[in-house]
Amino acid sequence: MVLAVHGGAGTALVRGETDPRTERAYREGLAAALRAGGDVLRRGGGSVAAVEAAVRVLEDDEMFNAGRGAVFTEDAGHELDASVMRGSDLAAGAVAGVRNVRNPVSAARLVMERTRHVLLAGEGADDFAARNGLPTVTQDYYWTQKRWDALLEAKKPGARGGGSAAGGEGKAAAVGGKAAGRGGRSAGRDEQAMGTVGAVAVDRARDLAAATSTGGLTNKMVGRVGDSPVIGAGTYARNDTAAVSATGQGEVFIRGAAAVTVSHLMEFRGLDVASAAYEVVVRRLAALGGLGGVIALDRDGVFDAPHSSEGMLHGYLTRDGEIVTKVFRDESPPDQ
Ligand code: ASP
Repeated sequence: MVLAVHGGAGTALVRGETDPRTERAYREGLAAALRAGGDVLRRGGGSVAAVEAAVRVLEDDEMFNAGRGAVFTEDAGHELDASVMRGSDLAAGAVAGVRNVRNPVSAARLVMERTRHVLLAGEGADDFAARNGLPTVTQDYYWTQKRWDALLEAKKPGARGGGSAAGGEGKAAAVGGKAAGRGGRSAGRDEQAMGTVGAVAVDRARDLAAATSTGGLTNKMVGRVGDSPVIGAGTYARNDTAAVSATGQGEVFIRGAAAVTVSHLMEFRGLDVASAAYEVVVRRLAALGGLGGVIALDRDGVFDAPHSSEGMLHGYLTRDGEIVTKVFRDESPPDQ
């Protein structure tokens, strides 16, 4: 593989229960992102530019919980998180809680390339992005009916899916954990549980990069920041180990230092990329109560996408230009 993307962990889309338009929309979204990143690589571009291009496509696609289509906070706003990391020198950039930049991943890249900092949050991050020429939008740009319905659902008394950082049940449901059960749910309900996006790539120079972008959890507290903009939790890239982008219950992925632990297991224990990613996702994070998954790629193009959640939308591009997308549970069953 040269490039892979994910469109979030959650309850699985089930073949036969998912309407064909929904299936097509997810597959086309993932494939468009892979094409965009693949074009960059084919033209000789670097892996950072490739993951940024792929994630931008997913941010602009309202099917996914990033950029347009981001989930709502508990006060019916949108606060977005994103990060990017370069494997050649461990340079990294991230933004948290931005409310006006159209493509948070591009803001993250600018933080990496034009500041002496790694993570900018809130208004300062939005201002920085605007001053550096990134398109800004008003909050209504991110609005979608699907996410609005999910917020109302989460606010119903006794509902699962409350994104309050204190709400244990809510966390599980918001990423569509097993707690929500499987039988008889509509595709709409499944969809609400998906959508954080990420990409990992290796370029011709065999440099790795990873990026992740999200609207976070439905009904999250205002000011809540998840794992996606936290380097070492949601995103990590190091040339001699792997590029990793995570999705799942952010609080657990932060506590378990998810992405960097994949790298450490490779560096210090000599595991291959698939074994390291499996160990983190299925053993360590699951033991902490965190469902989700990662996409992980090493510089030889070895790729894996383990997940403990029922489903994880993802896809990859091979060096020969073949695109594969996986959206149904039977295409990518949970790892155990
Ligand atoms: N990890 C994201 C967060 O906690 C959510 C997700 O991946 O679905 O913000």
